Amino acid sequence: MLRVAVIGSGPSGVYTAQALVEQRAVPGIEVYVLDRLPCPYGLVRYGVAPDHEKIKSLQNNLRTVLEHPRVHFLGNVDVGAPGLGPRELRRAFHAVVYCVGAATDRRLGIPGEDLPGSCSATDFVSWYSAHPDAPAGRFALTARSAVVIGVGNVAVDVARVLAREAAELAGTDVPQTALGTFADSRVRDIWMVGRRGPSQAKFTTKELRELGSLPHAEVCVRPEELALDPAYGDPGGLPAVNRRNVEVLRGWAERPAPQEPDRPGTDRPGTGRPGTDLVRRIHLRFFLRPAEILGDAESGVRGVRFERTAPDGWGGVRGTGRYEDIAGELVLRSVGYRGTPQEGLPFDQEGGTVPHLEGRVLRDGVPSPGEYVAGWIKRGPTGVIGTNRPCAKQTAASLLADAGAGALDEEPPAQDPVTVLRQAGQRPVPWRGWLGIEAAEAALGRELGRTVVKIPDWDGLLAAARTTG
Ligand code: NAP
Repeated sequence: MLRVAVIGSGPSGVYTAQALVEQRAVPGIEVYVLDRLPCPYGLVRYGVAPDHEKIKSLQNNLRTVLEHPRVHFLGNVDVGAPGLGPRELRRAFHAVVYCVGAATDRRLGIPGEDLPGSCSATDFVSWYSAHPDAPAGRFALTARSAVVIGVGNVAVDVARVLAREAAELAGTDVPQTALGTFADSRVRDIWMVGRRGPSQAKFTTKELRELGSLPHAEVCVRPEELALDPAYGDPGGLPAVNRRNVEVLRGWAERPAPQEPDRPGTDRPGTGRPGTDLVRRIHLRFFLRPAEILGDAESGVRGVRFERTAPDGWGGVRGTGRYEDIAGELVLRSVGYRGTPQEGLPFDQEGGTVPHLEGRVLRDGVPSPGEYVAGWIKRGPTGVIGTNRPCAKQTAASLLADAGAGALDEEPPAQDPVTVLRQAGQRPVPWRGWLGIEAAEAALGRELGRTVVKIPDWDGLLAAARTTG
């Protein structure tokens, strides 16, 4: 019998567990999926936007795996805390697979980055996703104008959520306090700004297109700015996703409607678009590189100074020495996630990943039997949820090959995992504890006249888990 710990219950962790229990080469593997939070599903629960119900429903597939008889979910377990490093884990498990994702955000490294009102988009996402580490009152949305730096899918998510009316979010699982904040939102203009051209934006076309179909917001583009991109006029040679992005943007640029209102932060109630009630504008801007976040410590941010860029002919851009300020009292930096070092594991500072060979952790360049990685901590924060499946399969295959070759301990670990975790000071929440949280969130939804409403704090989650756990 082989006992494996998978650290992290997001898609990469769950797909790894699935690959391990659904194969026949090494029968009878028991997988313990440990998570720091009492709730499973990682970024599917705490990263996928609440209005993306279809992607969120992936939780049902992940759930099937976590309910497999040889998979055991244990939440509220802080791997890396004193007394629970790689060495202690190896006393309880033949192998450990770290699927811990990328826990923090990349920095811009420009003046003003830490002024009040300048936040990472991942903080904002955590807040509206009810992550228990995000204070319920973290965001007030008193700004008239919000500037989102970056043009990836996270930037699109936060811009879209900011552009929605509270009524559109009431049917989702956003926490009640955040819903109240959205109802009081004063945000009218949302600027999403890329440092390169439209053909190099990182968002995917489905997500981009969705911005154009929001019931109470319109997208504004500047045709002359889009045209600065050499591929704009002739996108035929671009990879499919970039070509389709350019086509969508061009469609918007060619609309007869006014493209770019001149004064940000002003109300423009309705533009005659039939059947709509326009409240907000999403301005897509390109070839602007952030140089400084403007403002002061007392009154917070008042905008972002960008340097205008121009294509350098090699896919990058160069500065032009010309600057443009975009006013905004809220700045969301959406320039990508970053992995953080794991206690006791080697770490590649540059990539924010754990060095590995086909998923085997490399210590001083040599594969370390029994230690593996999968997901963003293995390959960096890129790709969609499905990208984790082949990644997890590769790691599982390496682990199984090592087991087959006798590279993992032959002796069964001394103690049962729950005892080891308890001895390390942990209070694991088992699967039935999570079911208690689910039931409490459904009850809260009924009480508030909504569907499921997430519990946003540690005390509430742990209390709900205790009702069944
Ligand atoms: P991302 O796709 O890597 O996009 C990061 C953006 O930040 C890019 O526009 C990048 O521009 C820009 N950027 C980076 N450093 C910058 C700097 N110093 N100054 C200005 N701009 C800078 O990251 P993400 O949006 O966080 O998404 C992470 C992953 O999650 C992606 O694979 C994404 O597709 C996925 N995701 C998917 C969905 C979905 O499927 N609906 C939703 C959310 C996230 P450059 O290109 O010039 O570097």
